[in-house]
Amino acid sequence: MRIVLNPGHSTSDPGAVGPTGLTEAWVVRQVVQKMLPLGEYEPKRQPAGSRGLGILLLALMANPPDVLVSVHCNAAGGNAGRTADDARIYAWAQDADNDRASASLALSRAITQTFDGLDGAEAQARVAPYLRQDREGNSYSYTPAILRRTARRAVVLVELNFISNPAIEARMRDPSWHDLAAHALDAGIDAALHRGATAATDRSALCASCSSALWRSRSSLA
Ligand SMILES: [Zn+2]
Repeated sequence: MRIVLNPGHSTSDPGAVGPTGLTEAWVVRQVVQKMLPLGEYEPKRQPAGSRGLGILLLALMANPPDVLVSVHCNAAGGNAGRTADDARIYAWAQDADNDRASASLALSRAITQTFDGLDGAEAQARVAPYLRQDREGNSYSYTPAILRRTARRAVVLVELNFISNPAIEARMRDPSWHDLAAHALDAGIDAALHRGATAATDRSALCASCSSALWRSRSSLA
């Protein structure tokens, strides 16, 4: 099973930027680096100097992994962006390949289980169908039809939380937060791919360092 982790954006494409200047690209790179020792993961990053996803997509399509998990931070403008506090796990529901659509949805649900409660009791992770816009409100430059060819079995996009929320941005600087996010993501992937998607609904089945209870108690210390 070849699982590619894509930390979104690059050194020349910061992605979303928090209120004090923390960049999405830096945060997701920390999280993905902490995931690498946890499983058989292959990191694949958008090349420096390229802004769009084109080069990355072409590389993936030329040699598609079984699973692609693209990791991002969310952002929104105005008061909504300053107070939003949730992870959003996107699956490609419009995939014409039914097996890949259901595998993607199962993977997104398993990750949602391990992210439930991320960053505080108020936060709720959610599974959302494919619907992506960039910060200018334009549709992404790729379509689900292109994206589905970047992995054979499942494609999921994870928005860890809102970097536009000052309290979340502060947590996103903390290496212990990167650790927790990495373990939660790894546990969700592991539950879906290696133990069956239903295992993720049993939190006691998750590894000790990323059970939801521990996640809550540790993140409430932050
Ligand atoms: Zn992003």
